[in-house]
Amino acid sequence: MMKYKEIGFKLTPQRLAILDYLEGNTAHPSAEEIDRALSEKFPTMSLATVYNTLETLRQKGLVQELSIDPDKKRFDPNIRPHNHLMCIDCRRIIDVHTNFDLSLNDRDKANFIVLGHHVEFYGRCPECRKAAEGRA
Ligand code: ZN
Ligand code: MN
Repeated sequence: MMKYKEIGFKLTPQRLAILDYLEGNTAHPSAEEIDRALSEKFPTMSLATVYNTLETLRQKGLVQELSIDPDKKRFDPNIRPHNHLMCIDCRRIIDVHTNFDLSLNDRDKANFIVLGHHVEFYGRCPECRKAAEGRA
């Protein structure tokens, strides 16, 4: 994801732990999940620290903030353009690497320079479908 020394902010043990947690993480965690995962080993970890660190990383373009989950922001250390698929039951988010040709016609483009797009898919994962069948 990133070279620690290039980030340009003071690396406290808490911030370093957050960076380590995010490195290669494909689970698209929320700030709350990161806080929960790290607060046992780092008792001084707080949700505020997690939020502030994520916001700094986002401003520096080192982490993507995803809005696919309507309940909470989710974070992705993979900053390359890609799309996402979320299970509406367990809120698991997986990467979608299919490329879509989503060029806008001139009318819709309205003289904007379009820099990118993000496609959000919603569905039900195999585990949740199985659980639903078990209840039926
Ligand atoms: Zn699911
Ligand atoms: Mn992703």
